[in-house]
Amino acid sequence: MPELPEVETVVRGLRPAMEGKRIALAETRRPDLRFPFPANFAERLTGRTVTEVVRRAKYVLIRLDNGETWLAHLGMSGRFTVSPGARASSGQAGHNSGWALVEKHDHVLVEMADGGRVVFNDARRFGYMDLIPPGGEAESVHLRTLGPEPLSDGFTADYFAQTLRGKRSPIKSALLDQRVVAGIGNIYACEALWRAELSPRRSAHTIAGGRAERLVVAVKSVLADAIAAGGSSLRDYVQTDGELGYFQHNWGVYGREGEACSACVAEGRQECEIRRIVQSGRSTFYCPRRQR
Ligand SMILES: [Zn+2]
Repeated sequence: MPELPEVETVVRGLRPAMEGKRIALAETRRPDLRFPFPANFAERLTGRTVTEVVRRAKYVLIRLDNGETWLAHLGMSGRFTVSPGARASSGQAGHNSGWALVEKHDHVLVEMADGGRVVFNDARRFGYMDLIPPGGEAESVHLRTLGPEPLSDGFTADYFAQTLRGKRSPIKSALLDQRVVAGIGNIYACEALWRAELSPRRSAHTIAGGRAERLVVAVKSVLADAIAAGGSSLRDYVQTDGELGYFQHNWGVYGREGEACSACVAEGRQECEIRRIVQSGRSTFYCPRRQR
């Protein structure tokens, strides 16, 4: 499941393929993904020029020259693939140009005016797309309740402690609450708590002062490190087959039940054993020895 760093690398991979370029042809190959496409979706994309591709939480926002924003969520298995302009000299794309390499779950196909192609593939169809009217991003049903971006200057220890005040839910659940901070999923919540040496069971209201400071730093560093890893393992964020944004990770605790965590091992404490518990229906992995 794509998390914030994957979505960020998708955005960085889409930029050179789309920004400043006109959409010569868009096509949807079914009426819906998780939700129906907006009315006349493909027709409304066709002919527009992409001004900017940005990320908000786990959304890809493709801003268009008419002020509309094409919003895409990758869901569980959504993938964007880009291929460079193969017919750069011929200019116009025609309706009979054909999508020679369409694969089974390719649901949205876009040909840019330079011949480059952007394809959205989603086997499980938990992904979705929308078109936000000009000036409507702040009020969008998808975006309006989101808290600050974790990597932004707005996500500070003061903000975090203030927001968690009085909250009796476990800190792990509070990290996943998109109104508190946007875009953190299960894996990065586990990893950040491990880095901050805070128990996932700890009541959220106890995260203040130095603990809030530690957790904010851990959230930012775990995400920034993952984005950097994606950037260094992929050339221009694009895999050799054109797929964007998925890359190998080395988790500190996630998926490592029963192992000793690397931080304890580095301290010579081999008795460490990573534990898995279930919180709000999601697996939490943590080191009971160092996370208090
Ligand atoms: Zn440990």
